[in-house]
Amino acid sequence: MDTKNDMGIKKASDAKAGHRNFPMVPRVVFGKNSFNQLGDILLPKRKHSEAPFIFLVDDVFEGMEVAARIPLIFNDQIIFVSADEEPKTTQVDILVQKIQTEFTEVPSGIVGIGGGTLLDLAKAVAILLTNKGSSALYQGWDLVQKPSLYHVGIPTISGTGAEVSRTTVLMGPDKKLGINSDYTTFDQVILDPNLTQGVAKEQWFYTGMDCFIHCIESLNGTYLNAFSQSYGEKALELCKEVYLGELSSEESRDKLMMASWHGGMSIAYSQVGVAHAMSYGLGYLLGVKHGIGNCLVFQYLEEFYPHGVQLFNQMMEKQGVILPKGICAELSDTDFDIMIEVAMGMEPLWENALGEDWRRIITPEKLRSIYEKI
Ligand code: NAD
Ligand code: ZN
Repeated sequence: MDTKNDMGIKKASDAKAGHRNFPMVPRVVFGKNSFNQLGDILLPKRKHSEAPFIFLVDDVFEGMEVAARIPLIFNDQIIFVSADEEPKTTQVDILVQKIQTEFTEVPSGIVGIGGGTLLDLAKAVAILLTNKGSSALYQGWDLVQKPSLYHVGIPTISGTGAEVSRTTVLMGPDKKLGINSDYTTFDQVILDPNLTQGVAKEQWFYTGMDCFIHCIESLNGTYLNAFSQSYGEKALELCKEVYLGELSSEESRDKLMMASWHGGMSIAYSQVGVAHAMSYGLGYLLGVKHGIGNCLVFQYLEEFYPHGVQLFNQMMEKQGVILPKGICAELSDTDFDIMIEVAMGMEPLWENALGEDWRRIITPEKLRSIYEKI
């Protein structure tokens, strides 16, 4: 089982590898109702009338106004996808096959509209439409050979940073691992805070806390550098305003969207830490989703992130969020061992969190004692 790490970043300052030269999103629009510009943005990218744009859209928008505003022309197609489960390599392969069977021409591009789940699917489909074989072949680092199809990301919930990252996290046949490559990053992102209006309170908290935890793990990690710090501090400040301040809902949507962006930029040049490593264990064994999984773990990490956990508790209290309990209550010894193995396999995350000697601090017993509380 190879479950190395979340954001797909090896040590930032690895002297042998030199400093990483990583891609950024080359074009981004920000602003209320900027979604209305999508048609104009896509127009020059249309290859010809037979080469459609494929819109992968979270199925919460089926029959909703957002879907009606998608600028369809020619033979463009909307494919609604459920975000109930995190993306899988098999799901990506099926989508790619469907698109290849239905259209004789290679599409003009892929547009993902939704949360981290849909953004990751859109990135993966765009890669697999130009690279042969199953998406599972590309899980890892820099295995993608050819540039992906033009792809656009339009987040509808804020926090993961998937809109800026160079990875797409997929559950494969034998591992949960990102396709980390220079071709993964979106060519265009549209940040329209109004699209996040319908998000349910609990989900808003869980996904927003993914961003908060990115900041805490990056800012308290051994890989920290001025690049990561500059973005991480800004994102943290924005998270505090959103979850502890008295903002209007409009200000709050704007700021959380930018927090997500900065949080993503912060971990791009460093790494996440303990909560993400352990959350991966929960996700792998129980299918617990990324945002809530991070929260479930993070609440018990005062030993590693005392100030972060204190802030987290204040935010939960202020927002009146209560986390579910007893998630690990019924698990067997084997179950715990699986989660522990997955978590401990995330070496760069532990190394970032605790330094090269992390194995002296993190033992299977230690991890089990934390999982047992969840
Ligand atoms: P999500 O995409 O899983 O969506 C969460 C829920 O919110 C879903 O039920 C969805 O339907 C709903 N939703 C989304 N937008 C909505 C809206 N505007 N109105 C109403 N409901 C809405 O949530 P997420 O937390 O953004 O993404 C989690 C995924 O992101 C995981 O698969 C995780 O692995 C991935 N991730 C990727 C990266 C990366 O860099 N690629 C980073 C972190 C997490
Ligand atoms: Zn995360």
